[in-house]
Amino acid sequence: MRVLVEERRHDMPIIDGKAVAKEVRREVARKVQELAEQGLSPRLSVVLVGDDPASAVYVRNKERACKKVGIREETIRMAADVSEDEILGVVEALNEDSDCDGILVQLPLPSHVDPSKVVQAISPEKDVDGFHPENLGRLFAGLGGLVPCTPAGIMRLLREYGVDVEGKRAVVVGRSLIVGRPLAVLLMHSNATVTICHSRTRELGEEVSRADVVVAAVGRPRFVRGEWIKPGAVVVDVGVNRMEDGSLCGDVNFEAAAERAGLITPVPGGVGPMTIAMLLENTVRAACLRRGLRPPFEEAH
Ligand code: NDP
Repeated sequence: MRVLVEERRHDMPIIDGKAVAKEVRREVARKVQELAEQGLSPRLSVVLVGDDPASAVYVRNKERACKKVGIREETIRMAADVSEDEILGVVEALNEDSDCDGILVQLPLPSHVDPSKVVQAISPEKDVDGFHPENLGRLFAGLGGLVPCTPAGIMRLLREYGVDVEGKRAVVVGRSLIVGRPLAVLLMHSNATVTICHSRTRELGEEVSRADVVVAAVGRPRFVRGEWIKPGAVVVDVGVNRMEDGSLCGDVNFEAAAERAGLITPVPGGVGPMTIAMLLENTVRAACLRRGLRPPFEEAH
């Protein structure tokens, strides 16, 4: 895989997340097949609360992706006005269900529900999103386990494209628990020198312009300017912003940044496909870890 991707890299500076995600899905499908021969069939349970259209699309994509690789998937749909206790009850039942390997509660939750309470209710061994404090703590301590999907997917993209971050300056713009913070830890574990930027950062452009690897996870369209990018830098755009015309746009001014970047992820087709692919990997990993089997895939850190 690495060789194939390397070859393509000489033609253009684009990181093809779709192609890498396809390869990850193929590996997962192979592993699922192997496990089936041993009588083990991983199952993912997704809890979807309310009728947020973006969440509905994400969940549908997850359902499809599971189906394609042979992972059993069920979506438990709950009304927007369901109580926090009812959601916690469903999570508890899934924790107890020995046939369930992975639990994912689709975020965001309605405003009357405390998302951190719900995430903390998920059994860490079934927490395929990797958001439970125990999994985040394990990540921080370098102990392995279930790593959040988007950061794990980004590390995989960098690896597939032969980007060795050791000793490099990495700047992560955004410090969410879902993307920025865990990614910064993964980059640090890979021996990058990491700077985390956020809304209170002064002179953001200067920080970014020193980076060999820039990751934008801000949630603002074209926020990172082309002129901030150091020539040859690797640019990873996590942002998914829906524009008025219905198109998707990243957090980086792609056209301007691509002029200077050594490698850059597009939106769509960059990080997005990797997030779902890593969810599939995490589900199989959880199914194996829970049964004391050796996890089948390389750790993200
Ligand atoms: P959050 O809203 O949780 O975090 C955004 C971060 O950006 C915060 O840390 C915030 O800083 C920082 N920020 C906001 N404004 C500025 C600014 N002016 N200057 C510097 N930093 C700023 O977002 P997420 O991390 O959840 O998501 C980020 C983007 O990635 C979104 O577009 C989301 O849709 C996308 N996403 C894509 C995924 C994929 O699979 N491709 C998966 C997950 C997210 P502060 O902490 O100070 O408020």
